[in-house]
Amino acid sequence: MLPTPFEAGTGHAGSVVNIEIVTIGDELLLGFTVDSNAAYIARCLAVIGVAVSRRATVGDSVDDITDAAGDALERTGGVVTTGGLGPTNDDRTKPAIAALFGRDLRLHEPTLERMKAGWIARGLPGEFPAANVSQAMMPDGAVILENAHGTAPGIWLEDDRGRWVAMLPGVPREMRRMLEDQLIPLLRARGGAKAAAIVSRTLRTSGVPESRIADLVGRIELPQGVDLAYLPGWEGVDLRLTARGIGEESVSAVLTEAAGRLIPHLGDSVYGEGDEDMAVHILQALRGAGWTAAVAESCTGGMLGMRLTAIPGSSDVVRGGIIAYDNEVKVGQLMVSEQSLAEHGAVSEEVAGEMAAGARKALGASVGVAITGIAGPGGATDDKPVGTVCIAVETPLRAASRTVRLHGDRDEIRRRATQAALVLLRKHLRVQVAEPGAERSRA
Ligand code: ATP
Ligand code: MG
Repeated sequence: MLPTPFEAGTGHAGSVVNIEIVTIGDELLLGFTVDSNAAYIARCLAVIGVAVSRRATVGDSVDDITDAAGDALERTGGVVTTGGLGPTNDDRTKPAIAALFGRDLRLHEPTLERMKAGWIARGLPGEFPAANVSQAMMPDGAVILENAHGTAPGIWLEDDRGRWVAMLPGVPREMRRMLEDQLIPLLRARGGAKAAAIVSRTLRTSGVPESRIADLVGRIELPQGVDLAYLPGWEGVDLRLTARGIGEESVSAVLTEAAGRLIPHLGDSVYGEGDEDMAVHILQALRGAGWTAAVAESCTGGMLGMRLTAIPGSSDVVRGGIIAYDNEVKVGQLMVSEQSLAEHGAVSEEVAGEMAAGARKALGASVGVAITGIAGPGGATDDKPVGTVCIAVETPLRAASRTVRLHGDRDEIRRRATQAALVLLRKHLRVQVAEPGAERSRA
């Protein structure tokens, strides 16, 4: 006999339960709808200690639904489906799952009455449509999951071995409400104290490539039950620590212990946790130093200004910015020298440095930050390929310029360039905090 889902695993307090998700709909297979339901369900269930061990997507066919749900049921004994519950004849989930459990469909009067009452209450025109009657057909033994936002109720079906399928609607808004109000309480009640949450903690790093991060922390032993995932993106590499099967009382301490083992090896590259924005930390550091900032942007066309001003309260620190796309603007507004442009080109550390200095002066700010680069697809030269970006920072204490080579398409290069400028700025603000009396120097 198969274990029921909540007896799977070790069975002691803190065990994680595995289930599978089957999302249903031709539009998902065709790619017209992105399957956001599966991701949403997985995130919500993790919190109550229910792990999704596999996901499948099938079209609106009875055979495919029966196969996918049947296989999933064999493996884990618990399946959540979404979609195919509506009144149209492409909605086949209910007959498919009923067949899988060997149950007949019967008219469920209370559901029909509730749907008719809803029809009248919403003032919809005409007779209650016959097509909707099919939604009130329920497999024998079904537990109805109320739909607060739509007509099609969800269904919980369970066999005598305790294996179950929960059928939720496809419409994300309806699915989310039903998941939160009905399925999660039901699963919690079944799991009792046995289930332990799957809890994550994310360290955000920037300025160090993923492979280097892996060299730094890949071999560090983590507490038992904690896994590390590398999540690279244009803002940097996030390190997600996920604890599974650890009791609620100790999970937070275990994650703190895990983070504490990694952080000393990551140096300055760690700037925050969760979904924290580096710009927030930068604004705080500027405020702490009593400094204001101005930006000068070429290839990013204002993205750096946008990142900084997106943070509420930035107006006390951010003076403004100049989008110096054309060289004439660089010279006219930012006092970049014609000679530097001719000798080194617009994408050079010299010009970036002059742009940062010019922004400081022109806008009367303590700190200037500049970006000039080749976002592509055109504009590359032999020694300056697409993705070559020069960034510069000038503070009252020091000035620094860097060249970075970024990858991706135009949009990604512009985002990464903005982030690289923030990384350089953060580094120099940290120096200011660490050595308040530091002499002005050219780094
Ligand atoms: P309805 O009563 O509207 O027919 P339903 O339960 O039958 O609901 P579907 O017909 O499968 O659900 O899907 C309804 C809509 O919900 C689809 O048009 C689609 O846009 C959206 N949808 C379905 N499945 C998903 C999914 N997995 N992720 C995101 N959106 C989805
Ligand atoms: Mg439908």
